Amino acid sequence: MTTEAVFNDYRRYITATYAKLPVVFVKGRGSYLWDMRGKKYLDFFPGFGAAGLGHCHPKVVSAINKQSSKLIFIANNFYHPWQAELAKELNNFGFGCKVFYCNSGAEANEAAIKFSRKFGNGRYEIIGFENSFHGRTLAALAATGQKKHQTGFQPMPSGFKIVPFNDLKKVRKAVSGKTAAVILELIQGEGGINVANQSFVRGLRKICEEKNLLLIIDEVQTGLGRTGKFFCYQHYDILPDIITIAKPIAGGLPMGIMAVRKEKADIFGPGDHGSTFGGGPLVCQAALAVLRAIKSEGILNNVKKMGKELHSKLQELKQKHPSAIKEVRGLGLMAGLELNQPGKSVVEGCLKKQFLINCTHERVLRLMPALTVTKKEIAQAFDILDEVLSAA
Ligand SMILES: *Cc1c(COP(=O)(O)O)cnc(C)c1O
Repeated sequence: MTTEAVFNDYRRYITATYAKLPVVFVKGRGSYLWDMRGKKYLDFFPGFGAAGLGHCHPKVVSAINKQSSKLIFIANNFYHPWQAELAKELNNFGFGCKVFYCNSGAEANEAAIKFSRKFGNGRYEIIGFENSFHGRTLAALAATGQKKHQTGFQPMPSGFKIVPFNDLKKVRKAVSGKTAAVILELIQGEGGINVANQSFVRGLRKICEEKNLLLIIDEVQTGLGRTGKFFCYQHYDILPDIITIAKPIAGGLPMGIMAVRKEKADIFGPGDHGSTFGGGPLVCQAALAVLRAIKSEGILNNVKKMGKELHSKLQELKQKHPSAIKEVRGLGLMAGLELNQPGKSVVEGCLKKQFLINCTHERVLRLMPALTVTKKEIAQAFDILDEVLSAA
């Protein structure tokens, strides 16, 4: 099959829900991808963050191979050993929790929203934030503070209030006798790499305490080492009630987790929620391999070191291109480069040089390299970005 034949078949058989770049990938390893023509690309946005440890991490590949010949799936009306083993392993990273397994970030947030309504016992309102992103299913979309994603799909489910990010006063104003929970990303990913203030997050925790609200932290993009700590909330002096996890958890296989603080977890009982595929043996083994690799390979250390390297390179880039780059934001290996103009042409320019990055919120270049990224790969990325920005 040729590249052109793949494009044609997509036009004919696939709904046009994604804007796509014209390249067909067939192989990946670490920070690199290869297309159908055998061209090699440096990937600084592997799988939208889903390939957190890079493409086809050998320990994940081996875990999947082993488990797939043993038992791929068992439904949730029976036990298998690996769900609890995974939850136990997750508990070693600082958040004492019980978990609900599903298959995506949106589903993890849906589970958190349903959990909050059950917790609220008549209180049902959820407060979310402008420029947030929590997924494309209807309730997760209602919690998402970006009109562009909701347009054409109204009415949204009711019971959601959207307030400005980093504005504690507006949160206080929005809380009513009907409020059950607050949901936020500590670094808004899709919304343009906007980092929550320390005082804002601590204030939110306090409001939640006072009003008996659940604090839901969406760590779908920030979780599992991305920012230099295992969870992003660990940069703040708070403890969430619920954490939602997805993208990188199972090395590229679909898995979502709603993790709720142990002492509050028993609000969910049999029949309250479910997912046929949630937490099957194969994805659990893949996720176990990811968590174990994060520990045994010193991944958090690498993120801290390479995060510093990346941000200093980006600052250097900003100084070289002051008219193109407005601001550098982010934490660890989650970086945003706000441009003074739309970033689409920069992404396309990079693609031509076999370098993959993302642009979000129209003018924010988003770099989220594999957590295993090396200094050499960062230098290579910097050279290409420099060339592309110079040509623009
Ligand atoms: C990607 C993302 C989601 C949605 O995850 P899906 O797996 O696409 O449903 C939710 N929240 C955040 C912060 C995300 O980045």
